Amino acid sequence: MVLNDLGRKISGALNNLTSAPVIDTATLDAVLKDICRALLESDVNVRLVQALRQNIKKIVNLEELAGGVNKRKIISKAVFDEICRLVDPGVEPFTPKRGRANIFMFVGLQGAGKTTTCGKFANFYQKKGWKTCLVCADTFRAGAFDQLKQNATRSKIPFYGSYTEADPAQIALEGVEKFKSDGFEIIIVDTSGRHKQEGALFEEMKEIRNAINPDEIVFVMDATIGQAADGQARAFKSAVEVGSIVMTKMDGHAKGGGAISGVAATGSPITFIGTGEHMHDLEKFSVRPFVSKMLG
Ligand code: GDP
Repeated sequence: MVLNDLGRKISGALNNLTSAPVIDTATLDAVLKDICRALLESDVNVRLVQALRQNIKKIVNLEELAGGVNKRKIISKAVFDEICRLVDPGVEPFTPKRGRANIFMFVGLQGAGKTTTCGKFANFYQKKGWKTCLVCADTFRAGAFDQLKQNATRSKIPFYGSYTEADPAQIALEGVEKFKSDGFEIIIVDTSGRHKQEGALFEEMKEIRNAINPDEIVFVMDATIGQAADGQARAFKSAVEVGSIVMTKMDGHAKGGGAISGVAATGSPITFIGTGEHMHDLEKFSVRPFVSKMLG
């Protein structure tokens, strides 16, 4: 798990409270300093770290606490809650409805794990009994359609794509229309993650969005990209309406804090995390269990 290191450091800082003879402002400041350093080392954005420190200091007002209260517990809870806030924008993600077409459009940079995640996502819903299908609207990368097709075939999921049509918005529309009229419930559209120029990529995303009018735009973000996550997430968010995020490669190492910053930048909730290269390596994400596990 990418964030284990960060979790260990934060837990270590909190454990120092147990051994401290008294818990006063100096003790709290020392603990907060360690926690903030751990967050910064793990690439969490400096603005977010400063806000977290200030919020905790506001919540834990040592001078006003009555004697006998468990200060360590209060501090630990405040730290826990503030870390949850980093990955929780407080927005409910779109939930698909049975018996109608729910269109998910996946976006993200090439290499983030978009095509793999589309396959995993399809597999997840198919296993739960939803009528699920995949559409490949990536005409830029040679082999993108074959990759999606391979995953789809392995999981026995119907798919749509073209080796000859060059207009991705056209393919996306054809695929979505076809599957809609066939009564599919979960229609997953994979898009390109690379172009000669970034501007062209975002233009294409908008054209596809306009053509298919998705219920949800899912941003796929690589959890291992560190500081780059913040800018990348902002760029996607400003180009299209990112509704939710799947963070991939959470089985990798380091730099997970950057991804947390990226999530905070979009204000969109994480719905799933990718934990490996295989079809079943996808976990539903919920904030509190995730942070509990991270802090060990
Ligand atoms: P795309 O260009 O965004 O469509 O990315 P791909 O789906 O082709 O994935 C790029 C690479 O990342 C492939 O080698 C995938 O197997 C790998 N990958 C995708 N998701 C995960 C994940 O959650 N964990 C790990 N370890 N690798 C992943």
